[in-house]
Amino acid sequence: MTADLSDPIFYDENAARMALEAIRWPSGPVCAHCGATGKIGAVQGKSHRPGLFYCGDCKGQFTVTVGSVFERSKIPLTKWLLAVHLMAASKKGISSHQLHRMLGITYKTAWFMSHRIREAMTSGGLGPLGGPGVIVEADETEIVPSTKTRTAGGRKRSENKRFVALVERGGAVRSKVIDERGMSQVRAAVRENLAPGTILHTDGANAYKALMPLGQHEVVNHNKTFARDSNNGRVYTNTAEGYFSLFKRGLVGTYQHIDERHLPRYLAEFDFRMNHRAKLGVNDKQRAERILKGAEGKRLTYQQTDRAA
Ligand SMILES: [Zn+2]
Repeated sequence: MTADLSDPIFYDENAARMALEAIRWPSGPVCAHCGATGKIGAVQGKSHRPGLFYCGDCKGQFTVTVGSVFERSKIPLTKWLLAVHLMAASKKGISSHQLHRMLGITYKTAWFMSHRIREAMTSGGLGPLGGPGVIVEADETEIVPSTKTRTAGGRKRSENKRFVALVERGGAVRSKVIDERGMSQVRAAVRENLAPGTILHTDGANAYKALMPLGQHEVVNHNKTFARDSNNGRVYTNTAEGYFSLFKRGLVGTYQHIDERHLPRYLAEFDFRMNHRAKLGVNDKQRAERILKGAEGKRLTYQQTDRAA
């Protein structure tokens, strides 16, 4: 982990605010209400907190957190930025318990914070993976809920959860929670996420059969070998399997008892780090900045249990 904890943005509220302003508004403040940029001024005076802006177009006031997952939070921005940096830099994620201890906030607050940060990591509207001649690996995996999770809250026994992941060789990942026997969902994920001409590498799972045109699907039979050569490159699914193994170790080691309703958001967190991994030239600081940028235009409608206690 290389977050430089001596950076003023982690202890000086003004430095934290200005850092967030620079990331969110690289060419100057943008009105959070009407999107105008022309007639914006800082609201001066002792009765106002620093960082309050006034828009001459819509007469509204706003700060850098309005219209983001940080809006209406009572937690200091310094703690938000520290939590974001920790989540950006921890390969297997960081538990709410650890955030609670490191940031000196309640467990409940840490839990809400980490879910808001996960929301900032979700990436809608990304383009398809692959393209002509580009290899994408597909794989599925299953997690079995712990006995504790199965009976939590007196709810009925949870089913095992299945996931499908598509990983472009040397590129991005898209993963998804699917039903236990969701062959059609696997096929839908492939159809929705692959650009035409992509070469799909999979193990022998039936879901992929007859899905790709001839010559665009290579299978590695795991009963015999873990990789083989073909005219379409070396066939293996190790990247996708490695991704799942990281996700599972994160779930087991860091998030022991997560509620299955939140699984898609945890998956989005792991997708985000994979899509901005060091191998693709993104360092910890840049990854954190992309989360902060992604916090924009997103809201979570949790109740106001968000206290800096
Ligand atoms: Zn405005």
